[in-house]
Amino acid sequence: MKTFPMFLTMTGRRVVILGGGEQATQKCRLMLKTEAAIEVFAPALDVELQSLVDTGRITHRMDRITADALRGAPLVFVGTGCPGIDAALHAVATDAGGLVNVVDQPDLCDAITPAIVDRDPVVVAIGTEGTAPVLARQIKTALERMLDPRLGDMAALAGRLRDFAAQRLAPRQRRDLWRWVFNGPLRARHAREGDAPVARAIKDVIRTGTVPAAAPSPVALVGAGPGATDLITMRGVQRLQEADIIFYDRLVDPGVLELARRDAERVFVGKEPGCHAWPQDKINAVIVAAAKRGQRVVRLKCGDPGVFARGAEEADALRAAELECEVVPGVTAASGAAAAVGGFLTERGKSDTLVLTTGRCADGNGTPDWVTHLTQRSNVAVYMGVAAAPKIAECLRRANLLDQVQVTAVSNAQRAEQKVLHCGGRDMVSELTRAGIESPAILFLSRPDAVERELRIPAPRLVAV
Ligand code: SAH
Repeated sequence: MKTFPMFLTMTGRRVVILGGGEQATQKCRLMLKTEAAIEVFAPALDVELQSLVDTGRITHRMDRITADALRGAPLVFVGTGCPGIDAALHAVATDAGGLVNVVDQPDLCDAITPAIVDRDPVVVAIGTEGTAPVLARQIKTALERMLDPRLGDMAALAGRLRDFAAQRLAPRQRRDLWRWVFNGPLRARHAREGDAPVARAIKDVIRTGTVPAAAPSPVALVGAGPGATDLITMRGVQRLQEADIIFYDRLVDPGVLELARRDAERVFVGKEPGCHAWPQDKINAVIVAAAKRGQRVVRLKCGDPGVFARGAEEADALRAAELECEVVPGVTAASGAAAAVGGFLTERGKSDTLVLTTGRCADGNGTPDWVTHLTQRSNVAVYMGVAAAPKIAECLRRANLLDQVQVTAVSNAQRAEQKVLHCGGRDMVSELTRAGIESPAILFLSRPDAVERELRIPAPRLVAV
């Protein structure tokens, strides 16, 4: 960080603006949000500045700009509209010892004004050290949408009631109180109805000393997406940020875990291949136990929690323990893999049936009937298919389909290590090995007609992406 964000107390502080035109007016508007004592040095003033002088909100000074005249002002803005004059005034202002901001000349700035989301007294400042003002504005827009316009009033109300709460409640109760105020339905009520009913409700709770128990939040089964950190949904990120504890799988990208609160507990409950340290029963049990302790729980799974993820078993266990459960969908690996190769899961006229199937079923369930799924216009995505490739090839051989099937295999889709292989069914097993395609991978099987097959699969090839 070359610059450090900090909130300065401005009440009564002298802030000087050098210039009387549009640039100076802009800085003045910004400073008017504060309670600073604003002085504008300029031979002539813009009408807007003049009216502020007339109402006594700012002071107009016409004396010569010298270091002595500026001394004691902790913040000086320079914006005359003329870069040459600004550079000269920068030297004078620096001499006077305050922090200097020169409009549109970042190299001459000790202090940069951030993009601001203003819900006074809640203020969010966004800075990019001058590298990407457009990005700062995009972030600002996103935050503007996220934060209710009345949020500041609610914070101010809480501020007014702090002393009352401190007199009546123990520290632990106070924490519970404010958590209840800002987490619960009260915040939505404030957005709808404003201060009065919310103030009454808070005062009642402080008087009686009993903070309503927060309704336990449902356990969220969240889909993390196939890999890339930005392929989780916004709802998923929100649940991660609310979570006290996160149980995550082997294939969840570490970058996604970074999106959680820093103090959230992260528990790995993955199944390393060939290792049974975390059987499903035990996973169910720890999730249920955490939720019963009152922790906000996220169960984070790669892809979508509803696709080959044993989500249903976890949801059943939660329901059996009378706990609520919410499913937050994610981008499943087949979608991630198709997009990664510029492909489409269905294509009008070519593939109108999409089959998601697996190479590995529950013990005792045999194997899925891959061949039956493989019709002329279907696209079959096989999860956990690499180890099952020889079995799949054998089924194709028995159905006399080896030469009709086109295979696209994508391993580690949407990750840096992604590999893509196109080949025919006959070469599938050897090519997978030769290309080094390992789990996690999706195998797409299709049966294009003869013409298309010629076009699409001239020879096995590994595509580096
Ligand atoms: N719930 C997940 C699937 C979990 S089963 C989802 O919806 O995607 C695990 C299998 O998913 C892996 O064996 C592999 O077949 C597939 N998979 C998961 N992540 C993948 C990735 N980044 N690239 C390719 N396949 C992936």
